[in-house]
Amino acid sequence: MDKQYTSVLNNNSGVHSIDKYSDFCPYCQVNVHIDNYESASLLDNSSLHVAVKCPKCKKLFVTLYNEASKQAPDRTGYGNRQFHFKYHFVGDAQPEIKTKEYPEIINKKFPKVVDILNESEKAKKLNLLKIAGMGYRKALEFLMKEYVISCSPRSDTDIEKIKEMFLSNVISGYIENANIKELARRASWLGNDESHYERIWQEKDLNDLIALVNLTISYVSMELTGKQYIESMPDKK
Ligand SMILES: [Zn+2]
Repeated sequence: MDKQYTSVLNNNSGVHSIDKYSDFCPYCQVNVHIDNYESASLLDNSSLHVAVKCPKCKKLFVTLYNEASKQAPDRTGYGNRQFHFKYHFVGDAQPEIKTKEYPEIINKKFPKVVDILNESEKAKKLNLLKIAGMGYRKALEFLMKEYVISCSPRSDTDIEKIKEMFLSNVISGYIENANIKELARRASWLGNDESHYERIWQEKDLNDLIALVNLTISYVSMELTGKQYIESMPDKK
């Protein structure tokens, strides 16, 4: 016997049916019995959002379905004359959190830094404000150390030493570019405020830390991109 599908949408393209409703409320965190839907929206030809209501807490939540099969209309004149799209339940729909784009050279040279920045930005957007700053502080440390290590040829011993150093010592001891050095220093002060029990820079906040980290990234990107051009065109032709 064929699985029972419930039609949730009927539009120009045909009938769109789902295989089951969610049986778990993300708010109550318990199994629930849902036998109806509130609204359905076709995202593209292969996925569907269905809003359902929890019978316990009455909250609405959105579930995601992917298209499993497409059945052509019955041409005999007796059966269904529309296309029938069948969708499989995937789970709760998660909003996609868009993150900032960083300069190409930063993505290429420091992918780990960009990963940490993206996670930190997501934490901020999810309102996890007590930990987002620590993420930016970590991204700054990775950026400074990887930048210093990649800037000029260094011995393995030197590289190991840099990796183990305090961020402030790396900035003061190894960064020559004054813009990068001064901005990174200030970013590290605010980064420490985000990680330590007591805040020293009371008048500054997470947004200032993010602004300083982004400015540091801009100067690193400018320096490295400029260097690439100068190296690729050493002299006048
Ligand atoms: Zn509920």
